[in-house]
Amino acid sequence: MAARVPLVRPDLGEAEAEAAARVVRSGWVTQGPEVAAFEAEFAAAVGAEHAVAVSNCTVALQLALSAVGVRPGDDVATASHSFIATANAIVAVGARPVFVDVEEDTFGMDPARLEAALTPRTRAVLCVHQLGIPCDLEGILRLAGARGLPVVEDAACALGSEAEWHGRSERIGRPRGAVACFSLHPRKVVTTGDGGVLTTGDAALAAAFRLRRQHAMSIPDTVRHQSQSVVYEEYVEPAFNYRLTDLQAAVGRPQLARLAAIVEERRRLAAAYHRALADHAVLAPPRERPGVRANWQSYPARLRAGGAELQRDVLQFLLDRGVAGKRGVHNAHQEPAYRSAGAAWSCGPDACGGDHAAGTCPRLATSERLRDTTVLLPLFHGMREDELAQVLDALAAFHRGAGRTR
Ligand SMILES: *Cc1c(COP(=O)(O)O)cnc(C)c1O
Repeated sequence: MAARVPLVRPDLGEAEAEAAARVVRSGWVTQGPEVAAFEAEFAAAVGAEHAVAVSNCTVALQLALSAVGVRPGDDVATASHSFIATANAIVAVGARPVFVDVEEDTFGMDPARLEAALTPRTRAVLCVHQLGIPCDLEGILRLAGARGLPVVEDAACALGSEAEWHGRSERIGRPRGAVACFSLHPRKVVTTGDGGVLTTGDAALAAAFRLRRQHAMSIPDTVRHQSQSVVYEEYVEPAFNYRLTDLQAAVGRPQLARLAAIVEERRRLAAAYHRALADHAVLAPPRERPGVRANWQSYPARLRAGGAELQRDVLQFLLDRGVAGKRGVHNAHQEPAYRSAGAAWSCGPDACGGDHAAGTCPRLATSERLRDTTVLLPLFHGMREDELAQVLDALAAFHRGAGRTR
């Protein structure tokens, strides 16, 4: 049987190997000239004024939340339907996630449900461009703006995704909220092994991120090493080490340079899945809203009917034919970490009648349904024609089987 088609395969080639070797030979391996160049190129790629690189997106979210004023005891409105890092970042700054349900087609926070979830202690909104599909940022910003709440965009998956802003298409990350946070994990579209980037249009926020990622050291080591006179650095507030290394940044640069082609290739693969699922008996293609273009960081096919049981059957059927799949995005409120700690999160200012300890919340019904009715299919740039054919064959076989038995 053919080798298994993975869900994702990082696209790291000679250009990346050369870049890493260049840094090794240079003798400067951590946050230095490569990080600075990567940041400038990243800012240009997403149309941001400032980009600040850090160790990963989870700490980027922490830095962003702190910088916009979230303090211990505050509430942050966010989506439960996300990688666990979104909720964890809120808890890490001592705040409480207040989970807002998502929209069926964007997998992102439903602005219509945001207002009801706001509490007297809400200090910020953390929305997610889930799976690289832009959420309804205009709607969320309108509501948050009316309450004077800063919006942080978890854009971990959304490098290269586009959305219309007042009728004009632009890449996610300018950003339209106060800060956007990207991930460079191998599961994402561009990878440095691990890594994260904060983008903002606010020079003061960018300066705060640069300071706090390196122990709030008043004079960066890069500056100190070039100084002709003796200078002593100071540490101006308690902070931490969130540096990205030059080794990592160098590996990211060639990928960033290919971003347009990367996204184009992923859209071509998604289009092949769209066609294959248009008349599929069991799975449906995701709907894309007008004005929004995903980077297809993941391809979320949806069950036309049925739930978790059928979902497992589909995943097992694919696996038996050498195709790795995955069920839908997790919901933080259904994971043991949050279920068992009922007080650590909330779904709004008043009781919902659900059993949070059991992982059910009527206010998060769409999130719960999406987890159990979504099947993520392999999609990555560099996917070979035979790999795509293997997935399409497996999908077609399930379609034929469904015609007979269901
Ligand atoms: C991957 C991911 C993160 C975390 O990114 P890391 O770089 O691994 O810390 C956060 N939020 C979402 C939505 C993600 O998909």
